[in-house]
Amino acid sequence: MDVLNLDRDHVWHPYAAVPPAVPVHRVVRAAGVRLTLADGRELVDGMSSWWAAIHGYNHPRLNQAVRDQLGDMAHVMFGGLTHEPAVRLAHRLAEATGLPKVFLADSGSVAVEVAIKMAFQLTGRHRLLTVRGGYHGDTFGAMAVCDPVNGMHHLFSGALPQHVFAPRPPAGPDGAYLAELAETVARHAHELAAIIVEPVVQGAGGMHFYHPVHLRRLRELADEHGLLLIADEIATGFGRTGELFGCDHAGIRPDIMCLGKALTGGYLSLAATLCTERVAAGIGVLMHGPTFMGNPLAAAVAGASLDLLAERPWREEVAGIEAGLTEGLSGVAGLPGVKDVRVLGAIGVIETVEPVDVRRVQDLVMGHGVWLRPFGRLIYTMPPYGVGDDLERVTAAMTAAARALGTA
Ligand SMILES: *Cc1c(COP(=O)(O)O)cnc(C)c1O
Repeated sequence: MDVLNLDRDHVWHPYAAVPPAVPVHRVVRAAGVRLTLADGRELVDGMSSWWAAIHGYNHPRLNQAVRDQLGDMAHVMFGGLTHEPAVRLAHRLAEATGLPKVFLADSGSVAVEVAIKMAFQLTGRHRLLTVRGGYHGDTFGAMAVCDPVNGMHHLFSGALPQHVFAPRPPAGPDGAYLAELAETVARHAHELAAIIVEPVVQGAGGMHFYHPVHLRRLRELADEHGLLLIADEIATGFGRTGELFGCDHAGIRPDIMCLGKALTGGYLSLAATLCTERVAAGIGVLMHGPTFMGNPLAAAVAGASLDLLAERPWREEVAGIEAGLTEGLSGVAGLPGVKDVRVLGAIGVIETVEPVDVRRVQDLVMGHGVWLRPFGRLIYTMPPYGVGDDLERVTAAMTAAARALGTA
């Protein structure tokens, strides 16, 4: 079958036209930290399939969990029925987060919609406060709290609710910022249902890291003004930043938390919205219920992924990746065309002055045997935790891409 030609004729890829402007590459296998392309090339995966595949691909334990569950049932409706994989997962997530009430959604964006719906239903208010530079998903409720400039607001401006945006939290602790934040929250508190942010790391909104003191202040401000704090941990959850959750950097607990991406170790689409006892009691009947809610296959593999995470020395692995990224990217800062280089946990970012030529950078890093997907002004990596010595290939490819920036 001529997969690539049929792909060009029929298939939408993320944020692309049909056919896409930058060609796609056909993958035939993925195992460990490597992707195998149809032409036989093997690439070290620097993306974890967008934060998700923390244990790498084709993991025997995760494969087995799916197979075992498949023998019992692939799916049953969650209205009026329940099953062990979903209940066990909810219990474990509640224990891990300290948030006892769990809504299992089918994707991250839906988990964010559910979080917003919880806040609206509980408070009867319909306005949110967030910070610039965020990303919370592509559905309408989520889009409305994405960064208004680099998000998609301009395409849908008439259709999006208008929320309150505070400036992007700075990388270092900043007293002037904290004062401005307090003033903004105070000014709008009477109309707000909740504050929603990605804790410590802003992902697809610009791969920006901010100081935990700003998150701690948001928690205090929410408490002072009787507002809910929603932590979107869809990208930051499960160890990526060096702590189990981004909120752990600030030592805070949100009222509502969204999880997704790495929840199933990258196997199946599953997300969760968790909340406190108080929020759940105040809402009562929550008006949401996706068809594939609590999918047993996804819940079972999520359980197995949590087992693996509990067994693997992920703190040491992530700290090792952090050291390897810092060392491996040390020659990049100061190169022409490079604006900033930053590393946190198992995340490494080169921010460029001009938008990157995605096709050119992708070809270049693939020539180094590495898979990366740059966007905007960012060449970045968040490899699977077991990347080991292959990380050097990733940082060498990124360094080569940065060196090539100035050249035509
Ligand atoms: C990816 C992401 C989402 C959206 O998740 P999908 O599964 O793609 O819908 C929401 N919030 C954050 C922080 C994300 O990184």
